[in-house]
Amino acid sequence: MLSDRESDRYSRQLLLSNISEAGQESLVRSKVVIVGCGATGTNLANALCRAGVGHLKLIDRDFVELNNLQRQILFDENDIERPKAVAAMEKLRAINSDISIESEVCDFNAENAEPLVKGAKLILDGTDNMSTRFVINDIAVKLGIPWIYSGAVGTYGMTMTILPDEANPCFRCFLPQQPRPGALQTCDTSGVLNTVPQMITSYAGTEALKFLTGNPLQGGRLVICDIWEADFRVVRIAKRTDCVCCKENNFEFLTVEKCNLCTSLCGRNAVQVRPA
Ligand SMILES: [Zn+2]
Repeated sequence: MLSDRESDRYSRQLLLSNISEAGQESLVRSKVVIVGCGATGTNLANALCRAGVGHLKLIDRDFVELNNLQRQILFDENDIERPKAVAAMEKLRAINSDISIESEVCDFNAENAEPLVKGAKLILDGTDNMSTRFVINDIAVKLGIPWIYSGAVGTYGMTMTILPDEANPCFRCFLPQQPRPGALQTCDTSGVLNTVPQMITSYAGTEALKFLTGNPLQGGRLVICDIWEADFRVVRIAKRTDCVCCKENNFEFLTVEKCNLCTSLCGRNAVQVRPA
């Protein structure tokens, strides 16, 4: 049962037939882990907090810098040099005190991935690098938790919902191996238009709300959008019969050796794949 305050706070989405009171109650009971509090992570956290997801966990090891303010919507000048996860948590608590929000100032890696996502109904990718996404994919498939990939660079973004089941592809079905260092564009080298993370997380956040309110999702759809060109396309991704992760269940990015290797190779360099 929603309280009178919740019925008022969420009244405009309760009116939507695809959410309604049952969907809202499901949202309030949900726990979501957001890995990364950069541009995509803060936009996703903002949407889920305002929509009333009952429990949010924010994970980020970085500190706010002046050049983040162009696009990372939960920070202002007073947050510079503060931990991103903590600054974002405090901003969100001021927006919605009816939900529970916690922060973890740490790297998301092979050693802590499992305890960090424990109890989550959904994991959202708010990172800026491929190495962490491979860790997210392994732990999500291992534990059977759906996750949503989001990436943004330049004027385009990509997102894909990964459903860890027999029928649907995982992230490694799309990208079997880590790209070589320097093979991908990054925001550090190519820049990013601040409307792109908003656009791509509008899609990813919608997927999250659909799932958390009990609506069906479709896996195997890589959504690519160049907002400058108004070019929006969906690419079908097939499940690989030889996928190391979702077919062989070899979760090699949850081993410390592989995880350390990928971090040292890729570091912060890998954000996004240029669509063919
Ligand atoms: Zn796979």
